[in-house]
Amino acid sequence: MNQAPVSLSLATKERILRYSVAVFCTVFATILRMELEPWIGDRVPFGTYLLSVLMTAFIAGTGPAIASLIMGIIAAGIYIIPTSDTAITRSVGDLIALGIYGVVGAATIWLFHSMSRQNADRLRQIARIEVLTAELKVAGRQKDEFMAILSHELRNPLAPLRNGIQLLKMNPETPDEQQNLLCTMTRQMDQLVAIVDDLLDVSRFVHGKMRLVCSPVDLRELVDHSLCQAKCLLEERKHHVQVLLPAKPVIVNGDRNRLTQIVTNLLTNAAKYTPREGRIQVILDQRDQSAILRVVDNGIGISEEMQPRIFELFTRSDSASKRDSGGLGLGLPIARQFALMHDGQLTVSSEGRDHGTQFELRLPSLQAKSVKPFNPESDSQSGFVLPPASAPIGNSPASSQDSTSVENTDDNEPMRVLIVDDNVDASETLASLLSFSDFDTQVCHSGVDALALAKVYHPDVILLDIGMPGMDGYQLARTLRQDPANRDLVLVAVTGWGDDKDQQKSMAAGINHHLVKPVDIDRLHDILNDIPVGAS
Ligand code: ADP
Repeated sequence: MNQAPVSLSLATKERILRYSVAVFCTVFATILRMELEPWIGDRVPFGTYLLSVLMTAFIAGTGPAIASLIMGIIAAGIYIIPTSDTAITRSVGDLIALGIYGVVGAATIWLFHSMSRQNADRLRQIARIEVLTAELKVAGRQKDEFMAILSHELRNPLAPLRNGIQLLKMNPETPDEQQNLLCTMTRQMDQLVAIVDDLLDVSRFVHGKMRLVCSPVDLRELVDHSLCQAKCLLEERKHHVQVLLPAKPVIVNGDRNRLTQIVTNLLTNAAKYTPREGRIQVILDQRDQSAILRVVDNGIGISEEMQPRIFELFTRSDSASKRDSGGLGLGLPIARQFALMHDGQLTVSSEGRDHGTQFELRLPSLQAKSVKPFNPESDSQSGFVLPPASAPIGNSPASSQDSTSVENTDDNEPMRVLIVDDNVDASETLASLLSFSDFDTQVCHSGVDALALAKVYHPDVILLDIGMPGMDGYQLARTLRQDPANRDLVLVAVTGWGDDKDQQKSMAAGINHHLVKPVDIDRLHDILNDIPVGAS
């Protein structure tokens, strides 16, 4: 009769293997001890067996080591200790040797046992940390995705709101009171947009995804642009602003948008944290190889212990929180990171509470030949033109055209702009805004309609949303580019998706510019005004 083969489990096989180590080591110790007999006689009968216990504990663990200890006693009794000897002293000596062997062997085993237990604990902890790290990474990715979607979702409703406010502001018949109201709404809107942008920036920094696009920049121009951005708030709080710029250009190699972000943050902070009708100075200077920009106010100040902390995320000083000036404590940490990325520094000093604050931005400067000279008199956009004397903002001679009054100047043939966005409110308000500046506009709400309309309307430029149902913006751009007739057509993405990789995807699809909603109308005008009419 055939017997079924006995199959051993893996654990049993492993146990057999481990105990075989004990047997092997004991046999080895016995042979070694016998070989040493001519030199050491019957002294230290258990010496080689201690070695066996040690090796077994090291290789096979606690159980086999105990087995090896016992087998050592038996083997020594049989092979090493002469049983026929009658001398009593000798057997007492053997007993003592046995005792020592037992104690040292047991101590060795205990030592190895606790070491291997600690080791197992450590491995368990490492495994747990690895699991937690993986979980954290997944959570981080999910948070990033959530932030990107959240900002997209927030930007979508913000776009028509900002367009609508802009439209009302541009209407010459809007009475002064309503203009003031619109200014307030613009400020609140800008605050919301800034919060969304700040949150995204923090996420980019945390994940090392922040990139700079550097070119030579005249800081005088940049200060003027930042003043323009902070103008509404400075005016509303009736601050006296003094701007001191040198006659020569102060050139740095930097990311224009990010440097503007730093300076605008310093200016809006000065405006927020200075009681109404305060004094704010903006001083630009160049010394040795450094460009130095100082924003000084006579506002609520910052206590000495708070000064290093205000560059930490989500930190707000007590006095700032009490005055409830709004803000999440993100602006300065972001500004400092940008300064560091430009090999610069952003520092603060204050004499303490209610003694004003000074922020200093230092950047490495370049030789002043690589940019077109900026003329503070004629090029200023902020209206803060720039005598050394302090003057209330409202009285500053406004030398620039108003940012909302840029117009399509060609009387004969207005530029044709096709707007494609499934968000009806966003597209309609943007069209109205552009019509106001005499652009010829058409609107449609899907990629397929855009393709059909482009054939008959022959637009000079298409402003296209990216996230549309059916054919998305990228697909639309690729399809348009396949037609040689659209070679010179300018495509501008106007989208809630503003990450680096979204911009790269746009470029890859043949889109010329990538703007993030709610679109900055001045920037859009700049782009449109650079396009020759009838080019496509
Ligand atoms: P927030 O959005 O809160 O203004 P910031 O990071 O820009 O965030 O500023 C962090 C904190 O630094 C502010 O909450 C305020 O306590 C303090 N702070 C910044 N600028 C000034 C200033 N010019 N005067 C007094 N305190 C300031």
